[in-house]
Amino acid sequence: MEDTVYKPRKVGEEVVKCPVCGADARLELYIHNAPIPGPVLIMTMRCPRCGYKFRDVSFIEEGGRPLRIRIRVEEPDDLNTIVFRGPRASIRVPELGIEITPGPAHQGDITTVDGILALVHDHVEPLCSSLEDPEGCRGFLRRVESFLKGVVAEPITVEIVDPEGISTVYRSKKRNYVVEPLEEPFTQPR
Ligand SMILES: [Zn+2]
Repeated sequence: MEDTVYKPRKVGEEVVKCPVCGADARLELYIHNAPIPGPVLIMTMRCPRCGYKFRDVSFIEEGGRPLRIRIRVEEPDDLNTIVFRGPRASIRVPELGIEITPGPAHQGDITTVDGILALVHDHVEPLCSSLEDPEGCRGFLRRVESFLKGVVAEPITVEIVDPEGISTVYRSKKRNYVVEPLEEPFTQPR
């Protein structure tokens, strides 16, 4: 194996509020193929104002092979499930007919299930008026909005399909998800 395999690779960063003083601080995400089974996800943050430091390491379940995570959303608490979405991972919600594929410049992000649904809402909303069926589109938005208000009127499944296999569910209290290896990725006809 090459040396570079053991170098942490940056897969995302975002600006978050320091939990101590509220200043803008940079949260960085790394994947590290440590010489132990499977890659690990490393989060680091250091506040430039007060010096608060945060570092956390979590294991990635399927060891860097293409994978699909299915998160079941059946009650409001499921909307708070924290997810790391890898830079190349797409999102699907079959019950709502949603599929979002990342742009080439996309970085990984840490988000929640309702954060993913908010992203979907923001993508779709400006498009509604130019569609053939604007009313249908708005009906779709209303379904998404009900989740954003914390109401789970219908169960849905949020799927993350990741060719790099580095996406992960971050410390869910509840086992409301499954991680499956994907042999033939992504564009299977249905
Ligand atoms: Zn601070």
